[in-house]
Amino acid sequence: MRYLIIGNGIAGTSAAETIRKIDAECSITVVSREETIPYSRPLISYLVSGELDRNDIIIRSSDFYEKLKIDVYLGKSVEKVDIEKRQVFLASGEFLRWDRLLVATGADPRMMDVEGRDLRNIFVLRNIGDAFGIVESCLSGAKKAAVLGGGLVGFKAAYGLLKRGIDVSIFITSPYPLSQVADERSGKLIKETLENHGLKVEVGKSVKKFEGNRGKVCGALLNDSSFVEFDLVVVAKGVKPVVGFLKESGVEINRGVVVNDFLESNISGIYAAGDVAEAPDMVWAENRINAIWPVAVEQGKIAAFNMVGLRTRYPGSLGRNVIRIFDLDFMSGGIVNPPSSGKYEILSRFDRLSKKYKKLVLKDDRLVGIALANCVEQGGVLLNLISHGRKIGKLKFDLLERDDYYSVISRTH
Ligand SMILES: Cc1cc2nc3c(=O)[nH]c(=O)nc-3n(C[C@H](O)[C@H](O)[C@H](O)COP(=O)(O)OP(=O)(O)OC[C@H]3O[C@@H](n4cnc5c(N)ncnc54)[C@H](O)[C@@H]3O)c2cc1C
Repeated sequence: MRYLIIGNGIAGTSAAETIRKIDAECSITVVSREETIPYSRPLISYLVSGELDRNDIIIRSSDFYEKLKIDVYLGKSVEKVDIEKRQVFLASGEFLRWDRLLVATGADPRMMDVEGRDLRNIFVLRNIGDAFGIVESCLSGAKKAAVLGGGLVGFKAAYGLLKRGIDVSIFITSPYPLSQVADERSGKLIKETLENHGLKVEVGKSVKKFEGNRGKVCGALLNDSSFVEFDLVVVAKGVKPVVGFLKESGVEINRGVVVNDFLESNISGIYAAGDVAEAPDMVWAENRINAIWPVAVEQGKIAAFNMVGLRTRYPGSLGRNVIRIFDLDFMSGGIVNPPSSGKYEILSRFDRLSKKYKKLVLKDDRLVGIALANCVEQGGVLLNLISHGRKIGKLKFDLLERDDYYSVISRTH
């Protein structure tokens, strides 16, 4: 059996390791357009801040592929997939055959379609190269940065730049940061915290056009017709799954590769995992992309089980985030901003003095979403309640009032 895995991020790596654990002899090939052995993508912003170095974020040893008897093609990009011949074609002209194929190609940052976007010192933050590009421009004298986008990556980029002593402003189209994973109340708390720690947060603002000087960015015209000066930009406007090479292959693509409960695509023998996979989501009851590390790990493993023939149902992903923002701890999971249609019940509690906030979202007597600020210690218990879909009845009032969720839950057993 020949297993071919496209991508050596955490989804591809988890899959390769799992296959090898189950079958010591099969042929496993990994192709990646990046030249690096597996590393922790969430940690690249610490390269920007200077708190970590390249070696600190490498997560497998240099002889990893050799030890696991995996054939590896690093720095090689897959350009085309032929499902009839079961071959992939690389940009180098080589081709590789498979019996089972895993697409684990992750996502690319969305670039902005505005004039001046090709000027120097405009970066994205997705891989090690991007992080070192940003560091280099700081070392070459950049003083004032604009981070465009208030999601997790934008926030992490801003933190890294601030740590380097750069003057940073975040420009956000939505009314508060982390709007995909926070609600209005927690988003505003996050905004306040960022501002208290030296970051400027400009909401409702976006770039209409970048201006340059000798090929280098020097500022931008904004949507409100104001002009702001800066000499370094990080565009953090979200990501899009890497699926271009699957065009015309016959593999079903919506936003990402659409997969079933066994992480298999519409083409038998082709699976997908990680940021590229549009897989079942446990609370939305539809296919979604939850582009986070733990989901990629789990999907990589479950895809591998199914590839080797151990039929394993994927329980569905749960979007979740835990993040420390200076002195504010924030956690969210599931449906944080429920649609106004649908029978959702919202319970919330906010204490301005301690900046403690809790929001519970329920549907059909089950917890389906949470947002917690400064009361996250036992938040994992709430995430477990969401994933188990247990009816919680009157417990909801205790869960709202108290933070020792574990004791609240144990009392009922
Ligand atoms: C700055 C930053 C901070 C983050 N912070 C967090 C965090 O705090 N918590 C969290 O849970 N998540 C975080 N994430 C998200 C997390 O990193 C991703 O969800 C996770 O890395 C996805 O893994 P993956 O294996 O699916 O994709 P990737 O890690 O993107 O790997 C994709 C692989 O596919 C390869 N590839 C792509 N196209 C081709 C092609 N055509 N041919 C060959 N190879 C190809 C790439 O080279 C790469 O090896 C962060 C992401 C970033 C960028």
